[in-house]
Amino acid sequence: MTEEEKTVSPGGERVQKRCPDWMEDVPEAVEAMNNEGDWEFTPCSIEEMMWMPYYCDEKSCQCWHESWAGYGWEIEKGKVLMTEWTCDSDGDWDCGYATYYTEDPDYCEKGWDRLSEDSIKAEESYLADVKETKEDPLGYWLSEERFQRFLSEDEED
Ligand SMILES: [Zn+2]
Repeated sequence: MTEEEKTVSPGGERVQKRCPDWMEDVPEAVEAMNNEGDWEFTPCSIEEMMWMPYYCDEKSCQCWHESWAGYGWEIEKGKVLMTEWTCDSDGDWDCGYATYYTEDPDYCEKGWDRLSEDSIKAEESYLADVKETKEDPLGYWLSEERFQRFLSEDEED
């Protein structure tokens, strides 16, 4: 070990090379990573997630559902894993996908941008459907007055 390497703060250099930026501010995560330990963060409420309405195609259902999506992180024996979570309006949580940070740092870093685009698209298709059916099954509008105003707005373009 060179003199220079010795003076690097715990987790400093090493962490930055292999980890997402947020990890610098989470000492427990840095420690787990540097000591091949375990650490875990999972989103625990929908406030930490992105709203994502979706139309359910199942024969018995054929309706809109609300869901939320977000990310968690795990460190398993020093390896950093990003986990993708969804939660629906029944309160069912599911971890659908996980990616090692080292395998695809770009995918992991842009997670929230991706979710935000997906959420905007999902919202647009919900609003388009509301306009067509004149129904608001998810209770998007808090007041009937606002809802009626939305329905009576002229179609843009
Ligand atoms: Zn359904």
